Amino acid sequence: MSVNHNNEAQKADASKAGATSHAPSNFLRQIIENDLNAGTYAARRWAGQPGDAATQQAGQPDPAKIRTRFPPEPNGYLHVGHAKSICLNFGLARDYGGICHLRYDDTNPEKEDQEYVDSIADAVQWLGFDWNAGGVEHRYYASNYFDFMYRAAEHLIETGKAYVDEQTPEQMRANRGDFTTPGKDSPFRTRTPAENLARFREMRDGKLPDGAAVLRAKIDMASPNINLRDPAIYRIKHAEHHNTGNSWCIYPMYTFAHPIEDALENITHSLCTLEFEDQRPFYDWLLDRLREGGLINSPQPRQYEFARLNLTYVITSKRKLAQLVNEGHVTGWDDPRMPTIVGLRRRGYTPESIQLFAERIGVTKDYSWIDYGTLDACLREDLDPKAARAMVVLDPVKLVITNWDQVIGAGKLDDCHAPIHPHHPERGQRQFTFGKELWIERSDYEETPPKGFFRLFPGNKVRLKYGHVIECKGAVKDASGKVTEVHAELIPDTKSGTPGADAIKVKGVITWVGVNDGIAAEVRLYDRLFTDPQPDAGGKDFLASLNPDSLKTVTAYVEPSLASAKPDEKFQFERHGYFVADRKDHAKGKPVFNRVTGLKDSWGK
Ligand code: ATP
Ligand code: MG
Repeated sequence: MSVNHNNEAQKADASKAGATSHAPSNFLRQIIENDLNAGTYAARRWAGQPGDAATQQAGQPDPAKIRTRFPPEPNGYLHVGHAKSICLNFGLARDYGGICHLRYDDTNPEKEDQEYVDSIADAVQWLGFDWNAGGVEHRYYASNYFDFMYRAAEHLIETGKAYVDEQTPEQMRANRGDFTTPGKDSPFRTRTPAENLARFREMRDGKLPDGAAVLRAKIDMASPNINLRDPAIYRIKHAEHHNTGNSWCIYPMYTFAHPIEDALENITHSLCTLEFEDQRPFYDWLLDRLREGGLINSPQPRQYEFARLNLTYVITSKRKLAQLVNEGHVTGWDDPRMPTIVGLRRRGYTPESIQLFAERIGVTKDYSWIDYGTLDACLREDLDPKAARAMVVLDPVKLVITNWDQVIGAGKLDDCHAPIHPHHPERGQRQFTFGKELWIERSDYEETPPKGFFRLFPGNKVRLKYGHVIECKGAVKDASGKVTEVHAELIPDTKSGTPGADAIKVKGVITWVGVNDGIAAEVRLYDRLFTDPQPDAGGKDFLASLNPDSLKTVTAYVEPSLASAKPDEKFQFERHGYFVADRKDHAKGKPVFNRVTGLKDSWGK
C-alpha cells in the first residue's frame, strides 16, 4: 500500500508520535515542568543501573531529565486501566526527555507466572512504548532489590525506627485503633535496637514460623493517619520465590518495598492511583530516613496520585476478570469482550486509539466514570482515515433481478468497482460483480413500509450502491410467512458512474453482495458484556448484569476483496461499522470477522 501524504494521515502520525504540543496540560505536566524549570533533579547521578546512594554517586550525570515507571504485579493480564497508566508514565517520559522503566513488582512469593511477565511486556510494546532507551533495557524486577531492602530494614532497626512485634494478628488489629480511637503501643515497642536486630535475624534465618512476628516501622500509634501507626514492613513467609528461590523466608510489605524500588531506580515522579494517597506520608517518611542514613540517592522520588480509570460497562479488577475467565463467562483473557489489553487488541482496538483515549480523558484527581463511548469515538477517529471499505451483508436474504435476462443477458455478470477508501483514490479500487442474484440485508425489505422507510417495498426504487437502480416488485415467502426472496427489476442506464445514471432520483441506497462472488464468512457481533453501566460499583454482583446478548454469531456474505484479509486487518463494513479479521481464528478460506464498534455511538442509548 502506498504512503499517504494527506492531512488525515499526518494527523494520525502526529498523534502517534504524541508530540508535546498536542497533549493537553494537566496537573502532572505542571509539576514536571516546574521541576524541570527549577532544576530539581538536574544534579542527580546515575550508575547506568539501579543502585544505592554510593553506586549512583559514582555514576554519570543522569541522562534522563525525569524517570517514571510502570510497576505491574505479574499476577494477571493487564487491562484498560493499566493502559491508562502505561500511556501516562511512558508518555510523560517521552514528552519531557525522560525514561520510563518497566518494573515487575514481584516481591510477593506467590505463584508468579512467566505467562504474565511475557504478556505485560507484549502489552507495553503493542501500545507503542519501549523500555529500551539509548540501547539500555530499563526492565527491572523488584525482587532483585531484596538484599537492599533487608539492609534498609536493619538500618531502621539500628536507628531505633523499627521493631519486631510478636503480638498476635488479632492483638495487633485491636491495638491499631480506628478513625476515632488512637492506637495502643505494642508491649514489644520498647525493645532495644540490639534485641530487635537479633530477633529480626532469627526471622530471616527461619527460626520463626509464618505469622509469629513482623517487623514494624516505629512512627506514631496515635497518628490520625492509620497508615503511620507503626506499619508492618516485613513478614515471615516460608515460600519459594520464582526469582530468589528459597534464599528468603521473610518478604517486604508492598508499602515498604515500593518507595525503595523507586529510590534505587532514580525515579523522579512516582505516579500512582488515588487509593495510595494515604500511603504518601509513609513513602516520604521511609525515604527521608534512608536518605538521612546515606542509603539512597538524593533528591529522592516523590509520589503523586491521579484518579484511576473507571469505564462504564467495564470491570477492571484482575480478580473479577479472572472469575469471568475461570467460570467460563468468556472464552479466555483474550475474549474480545474482555477489557484486557489482549482482549481489546483481539476485538480490533488499535494502539493509536487507546493512546488517543488516554490523552483525551487526561488525568485528574477526581473520582469519575468515563463513558465507554469515548473509547469507541477514539477508535473511529483512528480507523476512519485508515480502514479499507467493504460491502458485507450480515443478515442475508436473496434479491432476484427478474428482468436480468432481458436487459443484461442470461448468465452475464456486470463488473462493478468502488474505492478502497473514499478519501484516498491512490489506494485503488475494489472489484466485484453484479448479477441476477444478490444478497441484501433482510431488514432492507418491508412489505408494508413504516413511515420514513425509503428502502425496498413493492413499487419503490432504490440504488444498489456502486450498481444499478432497481424497482421492487414484491417478495416470495415460505409457509411461515418468512421472506425467502425479494424480487425487483433493474432500471436500464442507471449504473453508478455512467452518464445519466442519476436521472432517476431515489431516496434509498442499499449495500449488497453478489451471490456469484460473495464469500460466506463468520461474523461475531459483540456487544457490551454487562447491561449495568457500573457492574461492580458498591459491591454489586456483577454476574447478575452479564449481558446474555454480548455475542451473536452470524454467517454473513462479504465482498470478494475480503478474501485477502489478513488476521488483525481492520475494515469499515459500509453501513455497519468497524470490523477486524480475528487474530486467532481468521484464516484464508475460513474468514472470521469481529465487530469492533458501529459507525455511531450507541452506548448512551
Ligand atoms: P488490580 O487491583 O486489578 O489487581 P492493580 O492496581 O493491583 O490492579 P498492578 O499490577 O499493581 O494492578 O498495577 C500496575 C499499575 O497500574 C499501578 O501503578 C496502578 O496504579 C495502575 N493501575 C491499575 N489499575 C488502574 C486503573 N483502573 N486506572 C489507572 N491506573 C491503574
Ligand atoms: Mg496491585
